[in-house]
Amino acid sequence: MTITQDALTIQGLTIPLRIRKGNRRRVLMTFAGNVLQVETYTGSLSPLEFDFLKQNTDWILKHYKRQASSWNQQMRFVQHITNQTLIFGQMVKVEFVQGVNYSYHFKENLLTIQAPVVIAEVRKKKLISSVLHKIAHAYLTKTIQHWSQKTGLFFKDLKVKNHRSKWGSCSSLKNINLNWHLVMVDKSLAEYVVIHELMHLKEMNHSPAFWKAVAQFYPDYKKAKTQLGEMQWIIGIYE
Ligand SMILES: [Zn+2]
Repeated sequence: MTITQDALTIQGLTIPLRIRKGNRRRVLMTFAGNVLQVETYTGSLSPLEFDFLKQNTDWILKHYKRQASSWNQQMRFVQHITNQTLIFGQMVKVEFVQGVNYSYHFKENLLTIQAPVVIAEVRKKKLISSVLHKIAHAYLTKTIQHWSQKTGLFFKDLKVKNHRSKWGSCSSLKNINLNWHLVMVDKSLAEYVVIHELMHLKEMNHSPAFWKAVAQFYPDYKKAKTQLGEMQWIIGIYE
């Protein structure tokens, strides 16, 4: 392992590094994107703290690899955010055309957005996200109705919203909220969230009984949870 002011090289991998001053006596390591942030009491690395990093190369490598792949995915996505998007887990090309009104058309791998004016580059992102929100609303309404019938669990109201971190929630008043970003993940994952929230109408907790009820309708829920965790980065990407 070698170290410079702003990078750490382990087994030929160069990891961006930021050393900051913390207020604890111990060394704190976290990742921000693909950058390893090390907090020390002095804001620099003493030989002892350098040894500490050396002893933790396995941890650093493991987390870096996980962060880096998600980070690369995010960067690739953001670079092309006005030309392509994700719908139901598929990469879709986005095309803007001029027409009489605002409307959209989604077919196979193409999302066409029509507008009466030429859309400036800076407005495209906002427009794409509002179209995605509409597609999400239609799809999630249909899906929750389907699963509500199938499970015999009935909710009062559905809102498709811009949650900051959660994919969905269910209140004690039997109102369900779903995150519109669910339109960007595989349909099967969105279905898992729908079933999860419906099951809260019966069990307002995450007890073993709750998971047993989920498994009845969605046996592979553990895998879905992991996959949704990996897709967490898409939430808020249009902001
Ligand atoms: Zn839950």
